[in-house]
Amino acid sequence: MKFQAIKGVRDILPPDSALWNRVEQAAREVFSTYGYGEIRLPIFESAELFARSVGIETDIVNKEIYLAVEPSLATHEKDRNQLLMENTEDAPNKDAARARIDFHIELTKAGVRSGAISQQDNELILQEFANLQKNGQLLAGADWVAYVRRAKDLLSKLCYLPQLSLRPEATASVVRAYIEHGMHTRPGNVKLYYMGPMFRGERPQKGRYRQFYQIGVELLGASDHPAIDAEVIEMLLAFFERIGLKGTALSINSIGDKQCRPKYVETLRAALREVKDKLGADSQRRIETNPLRVLDSKAPDERPIIEKLPRIAEHLCDGCRNHYAELKRQLALRGVSYTENWRLVRGLDYYMRTTFEVTATGLGSQDAVCGGGRYDGLVEQLGGPAGTKGIGFAIGTDRVILSLEHQAGDAKPPAAIEVYLAWMGAAAYPAAVALAQKMRRQGTAVELPAVEMRFGKSLNLADRLGAKYAVILGDDELASKQFTVKRLADGDQKKLSESDLLSYLLPRTQ
Ligand code: AMP
Repeated sequence: MKFQAIKGVRDILPPDSALWNRVEQAAREVFSTYGYGEIRLPIFESAELFARSVGIETDIVNKEIYLAVEPSLATHEKDRNQLLMENTEDAPNKDAARARIDFHIELTKAGVRSGAISQQDNELILQEFANLQKNGQLLAGADWVAYVRRAKDLLSKLCYLPQLSLRPEATASVVRAYIEHGMHTRPGNVKLYYMGPMFRGERPQKGRYRQFYQIGVELLGASDHPAIDAEVIEMLLAFFERIGLKGTALSINSIGDKQCRPKYVETLRAALREVKDKLGADSQRRIETNPLRVLDSKAPDERPIIEKLPRIAEHLCDGCRNHYAELKRQLALRGVSYTENWRLVRGLDYYMRTTFEVTATGLGSQDAVCGGGRYDGLVEQLGGPAGTKGIGFAIGTDRVILSLEHQAGDAKPPAAIEVYLAWMGAAAYPAAVALAQKMRRQGTAVELPAVEMRFGKSLNLADRLGAKYAVILGDDELASKQFTVKRLADGDQKKLSESDLLSYLLPRTQ
């Protein structure tokens, strides 16, 4: 059997991975100058976390989430089903039978506590069990049979369905961690960044994968001042500048808050119902489930219809209108140029007020490299302190890399090694090992062949590996303590002592 990576999932190989490292390193450097620290998050979380934050009506949770099975749960579910089929009513040892039933109750409680299985689905059943157990201590004879029947009935309703998800995004995890660790007691705003893989079962195409990578930032705190939003956007653009990403374009919008958005959504829904027949199936469905999403429909024949729909800017409440105006002033103050796009709504439920997106070139239809916005209600929604505000963005690393590669054209990525150390003769090998250690200690990347090769063959391989230099070490060099170093680009060759060779190869900054 020939194994292949799953559809929509990719390997990132050297030398391409070097660019990934450079991009991630730049993010760490830029974000830390704005006072952000890295948060390392789990890859899987309770499925309910995403249902409650991202929203059940979103495509992400509705259609694209990867559920994972807790291994022990699968075994316990089998055991539960087995128990249901046994004749427990006539069990000779009632205590043992009761202990087995109790085991499943305790297991469910633990699962609910850890978030591995659904609280919602099991809460009522657990309560009924608690009542039954109280009585169960007293039951015997015919009542034992009644007890077992009732217990089995409840047992059969326990929901062991897999309730873990591979994360489709990380904002929910950051907020979960913020609440769990009481981070609101930290001084000032809490500023975090993360990077890593996300999982969504989307239809794969260029720039759209099922395992893709994001570099994201979240700022949580008591204030929602537009200067915060503007600084977050400034930092994002500073990052794109640092990695040399060209052709980026920032669009911004305000999507209102819980005062004005619901009213606008109703106005929009009413307007959409009137043109329902002219819309495609996806948009028709969204009229009822999530009408804002109709606005960012990519279908060309829906565009002219969408153009005529009521616009959020005309329906913002005073608070949101002022917030948006001040955001624009703050962006101008920072020299950030942008365009306003009233159709920019973001796919996730928890956004409010400021939303923004950055597009880049060379990506075809999937040209958004970053999406972000404000999510002031999310912390409270997930059980955290009321009044906590939040804003953040997520950069699609895969697309940033694609755009950078497109920009670089045919330029080759730098080779992984600088020096190929060609040696010949049994006595030369220990000297080569020692020399390689010294070169590596000073930061030079060295390839030391494990077996002896003729110099001609070595030089050929050095060339193919893209090495900059070949250092030659044979009997002559050993005797004279002068090493031959050849610059492979032009064949320039010199003989140097060990210390001169090391300083010749020293990584140069200029
Ligand atoms: P979102 O979390 O949907 O707001 O997406 C933020 C950014 O992540 C987008 O602008 C994309 O650059 C990137 N992204 C989202 N989904 C995918 C995907 N399936 N494949 C690659 N990149 C993605």
